[in-house]
Amino acid sequence: MLSKLFTLVLLLTNACASNDLNTKAQEIESKFLKAKLTRLSDIDSSIKVNLVNSNTDNNFFKMNFYGNLNECYLQKKIIYKLKKAQAFLKKSNPNLSLLLMDCARPRSVSWQMYNKLKGTPFEKYVANPATGSMHNYGSAVDITLINANGSHLDMGMNPFYKNRFELLYAVTKNKLFPSLSKEQSKNRLLLKSVMEKAGFKSIKLEWWHFNGFLKKTIRKKYKIIE
Ligand SMILES: [Zn+2]
Repeated sequence: MLSKLFTLVLLLTNACASNDLNTKAQEIESKFLKAKLTRLSDIDSSIKVNLVNSNTDNNFFKMNFYGNLNECYLQKKIIYKLKKAQAFLKKSNPNLSLLLMDCARPRSVSWQMYNKLKGTPFEKYVANPATGSMHNYGSAVDITLINANGSHLDMGMNPFYKNRFELLYAVTKNKLFPSLSKEQSKNRLLLKSVMEKAGFKSIKLEWWHFNGFLKKTIRKKYKIIE
């Protein structure tokens, strides 16, 4: 009897947790829809998505910011650029695919991230959301390459799946990518080349981050999603 009761309590607890995750995902998604963002899978379903901010175990913050959302939302023009990048990639490497790890991110989530790191040694590595990150405009992506089995290509370091101390170490030493093997360099260059060919702008310190346009163009063209 007791064990039955225990199972029931466990089931109810799990049901509540999954309801919370649903609610959180719906809240985020409704912000994106209100901002008239486009869903990647509606334009190109061949591109893979695994949002790190929906995954407590794997993300840098060890927090789930998006509930169980696993759709990539972006400005329509940026989605079309991704479609182009995937086509360029498939042309030279039919077995590979782009994998989106973060797309549009509401500024409210950026604030949560910022506040979480405030007062820690990591504080200076997170941009102040007051000015707005390009993710807040639905105009930036965090992205990598995967093979036909769904495994990440070796990029030397995936900051989202490593613990934060490694990232801190790497950044403080100002050698974010201290010693890349030939294979790792080749993989990063492949990602960079298909993304840039499709019109994305890369940034120096983060191999995984690309802006859909120049920053000033984005700020002029689009509004921040709060
Ligand atoms: Zn980013």
